[in-house]
Order: sequence, then C-alpha cells, then structure tokens
Amino acid sequence: MRKISIFGATGSIGQNTIDLIRRAPEAYDVVALTGGANIAQLAEDAIALRADVAVTAFADRLPDLRAALEGSGVEAAAGQAALVEAAGRPADWIMSAIVGAAGLAPGLEALKHGTTLALANKESLVCAGKLLLETAERHGARLLPVDSEHSAVFQGLAGEDMNAVERIVITASGGAFRDWPLEDLPKASLAQASSHPNWDMGQRITIDSASMFNKALEVIETREYFGVRPEQIEVLVHPESLVHALVGFNDGALMAHLGAADMRHAIGYALHWPARQALPVERLDLARIGQLNFRAPDPARYPALRQAYEVMERGGLMGAAFNAAKEQALDEFIAGRIRFTDMAAVTAAVLERIEAESDLIDAAMTLDNVTRVDHVARKQAAQAAEERIG
Ligand code: NDP
Ligand code: MG
Repeated sequence: MRKISIFGATGSIGQNTIDLIRRAPEAYDVVALTGGANIAQLAEDAIALRADVAVTAFADRLPDLRAALEGSGVEAAAGQAALVEAAGRPADWIMSAIVGAAGLAPGLEALKHGTTLALANKESLVCAGKLLLETAERHGARLLPVDSEHSAVFQGLAGEDMNAVERIVITASGGAFRDWPLEDLPKASLAQASSHPNWDMGQRITIDSASMFNKALEVIETREYFGVRPEQIEVLVHPESLVHALVGFNDGALMAHLGAADMRHAIGYALHWPARQALPVERLDLARIGQLNFRAPDPARYPALRQAYEVMERGGLMGAAFNAAKEQALDEFIAGRIRFTDMAAVTAAVLERIEAESDLIDAAMTLDNVTRVDHVARKQAAQAAEERIG
C-alpha cells in the first residue's frame, strides 16, 4: 500500500485526486487530508478514506472539525503549524493542491522528508522555484508536475535530451473574455470572470485564466521546472484546450500532447509515474472534433503575460512579489473593490515599485525572505488598488 497525503483536498484538484484514489482504495493508505473553510467536505473524505489526520488551515475552525470527526478515530488538527507538521508525516506521495503561496511551506516540508511531491500548487514554484528544487535535490525528493501544460511537457520530454530542446509552447484557452471587445473588459463582472469555457476549476484559477495571470505564472513555472531560458517559452492561444503543450526540438520536430480537458489526466500521470495506468477520462475522437485552432495571444488583452517575462528578467525574489501582488489584486477584484482590468495595473505598479528594493528582491531565497517579500508586495498591491479606487 502506498502512503499518500492530499493538501488542498477539499478543492477542485483535491477532489479530482480523491476521485482517483477512491477507485482503488486497496492501493492507498491515506495519511493526511487538508482543507480550509470547507470542514464538512474535509471530515467526510477523511472518514471515508480512513485518514490518520485531517487538518484545516484555519486555527479557529478546530472545534468544528473536531465535532465533525467525533467518534471516527480520525485525528483533528488546525492552523499553519499543523499543516507543516502533517506534511512531515511519512508518506510516499503528497499532492500539493493548496491554492496560493500558502502551499509553499507544507510543500517544502514534504520535500525535506524526501517525499515525492505532485505539484499542482504552481504558486510555490513561482515564489521559490530554486528553493524547492534545491531542497528536493538535497533530500532526494522528487517534484512531479500536475499543471496540465507542465505534465504535457514532462511527458513530451520523457527519454529526450534537454540539450536538443529549442522551445516549449504552452497553450491557453484564452479564458472567459477571449472574444470580448477590448473596451468591454473593464466592465467584466465577477460572475462572468468566474466561468471558464473549457475547464472546471477553482474560482481563483478560473479568474486568472480570464486575465491570463494563470498563464503568466505558468510561463515562470515552465522556466523553473524545466530550466529553459525565458525566450524559449511561448504561449499559444488554443480555444479547444485539447493540445496542452508542445515541445520543439532542434531537428524541427514539434511533439504535442493531446487529451481531454480533465485534470484527472495530469493528476493520474503524477500518481502512477513512472508507469502509465488506465484513467477514467474521455478518449478524444479527432475525426468528430474536426479542427483545432491556434492564435497568438493579444498583448493588449493579456498584459499579465508580458509581466511574467519582466519578472524573469529581473530575477531574485521578483516571482514572490509578482505572485503576492497578483493574489492581492485578485482578492480586491473578488471583493468588488477594483475592476477586472485594474488587476494587471495593480501588479504592474507593484513590480515597478518593488524592483528597486534590492535588499528585498536580491536577498537569499529562504522561506523567511520569500515571506517578507510576499508581505511587502501584498501591502503595495493593496495601496495600488486603493489609488485606483480613489
Ligand atoms: P480550489 O480553490 O478549488 O481549492 C483550494 C484548496 O486550498 C482547498 O482545499 C482550500 O480549502 C485550500 N485552501 C484555501 N486557502 C488556504 C490556505 N490559506 N491555507 C491552506 N489551504 C487553503 O483550488 P484549485 O483546486 O482549483 O487549485 C489548487 C492549486 O492547483 C492552485 O495552485 C491552482 O493554481 C492549481 N491548479 C489547479 C487546476 C484546476 O484544474 N483546478 C489546474 C492546474 C493547477 P477550502 O476549500 O476548504 O477552503
Ligand atoms: Mg495549467
């Protein structure tokens, strides 16, 4: 039996992971499940999967979790320290599917224990890629990509020589507003931004798909994970979301990965790697699909993309600043304080302000320094948002 834990178990990726686990319960011994506010879901799954411990990220929810787990034999825990403690419990495989920079500390802890970390939480690679990779290396741990594009690239690179790779192309659906007139974008509502044309995902990543902040993070994720140069990474709008990524080699070959828009593909690949096992996902009928479309992303529609390249060019801890500014801007949009198009203006303002703060940005990449940059960038983003409202 493989010992596994799922961080962010109550979310979209977490629930898809649980769906796969439930199909072969005899194969897995569940150590920890973690969630946030959704105590009922967390308790239900922890009991059904006979987890050793269930952890909510929010300390004040401990009494609720205890009550929900009463008599089940599943241990209840809460708060940041409890999350990190759970990440250190012996496991063979951990799904990292907390949303946001909050996923970094538990992920690092898992790697320190030599655990294989299936990484959906792209934010941790954007904030602290080098730190994660070095920690994995030092402790003999493995990081496996779960983001669909990165899983696709990983599969495209299997058995290949990285020196023969010319470019990596990640696709983007274009999000909810890909065909809207540009002048209507400032009027985009929260409900409109929260509905994705192809993928069923958590609300935050869905809005980030409409703005392409998600793709901006993924460009940085590509650089961190595969070690390629920024100019080797391309983004291609592909409205059907069936080609997830392509790898271009020095002989001109372009290897594409296709599959249904179902995250159980990438989760399952990471779960069974290095083997392939049958997965309960739709098989594509290309004759019925008939055609696939591609177009270059419009920089005016997706200003976040350019910012990703600026972040990579500046280096240091700019990724942590960018991610934090993005998270704050998204909070402001979700709360109805700023408009959809203000989000990229807020992150641009933060990048401009923080770039010169060398003591912050050029500090060593430690968890403490990343956290420090995160706090400053969130504050600056809140201020930039305030200025836009004012
Ligand atoms: P969801 O919002 O659906 O789920 C997020 C999970 O994190 C939930 O379990 C939530 O708990 C928990 N959580 C929320 N806030 C905190 C916190 N402060 N500390 C600890 N845990 C917290 O997100 P998704 O599943 O969509 O995304 C998860 C990650 O996977 C993200 O990094 C995303 O970018 C990435 N990803 C997602 C894809 C998808 O298809 N959804 C595709 C590719 C990548 P609760 O709900 O109980 O409050
Ligand atoms: Mg993705």
